[in-house]
Amino acid sequence: MHTLTCPNGITSPPWKLTLGDGHPRLSVLFPRKPCRECEDRLKCTGNVDGKGRHILLLTEPQQKIQSQVRKDQKASNWQRRYAIRAGCEATVSETVHAHGLRHCRYRGLAKTHVQHVLTAAGTNIVRLSDCFPPGTTPASLPRPPSHFKRLCQRLPT
Ligand code: SF4
Repeated sequence: MHTLTCPNGITSPPWKLTLGDGHPRLSVLFPRKPCRECEDRLKCTGNVDGKGRHILLLTEPQQKIQSQVRKDQKASNWQRRYAIRAGCEATVSETVHAHGLRHCRYRGLAKTHVQHVLTAAGTNIVRLSDCFPPGTTPASLPRPPSHFKRLCQRLPT
């Protein structure tokens, strides 16, 4: 039977196995009364509806994996390998946070694919516009005359 004790010395009831975002988690719910009366309540929990402090913990196998991965991430070897992904991660983050790629606007794979392609194209356009801020665009070549204009001016084709 596992319990948690908070910095103010309040001990939780035993942890309970639950689901958080569809994954197994350990739920720790501190008793209401001492949490309501606690002077540090606002610093401790964003919970404003009068319940006790609620904490979700990873199960032991997941916690071990997470601890090991966090330890590995500090090694220079890991950081060197991760640096290869840095540009890719930034692009994924940009499409998700700036262009809403995580939410599909349409139903069906075909339309979803179109959304992905258009989002990628839009991302490229935004990046290109950053390469040439206003006033710094390279001089463009004059547009060739259209067929109709050639016809009107009797220009050779
Ligand atoms: S709000 Fe509850 S859990 Fe947080 S410090 Fe106070 S008594 Fe402890």
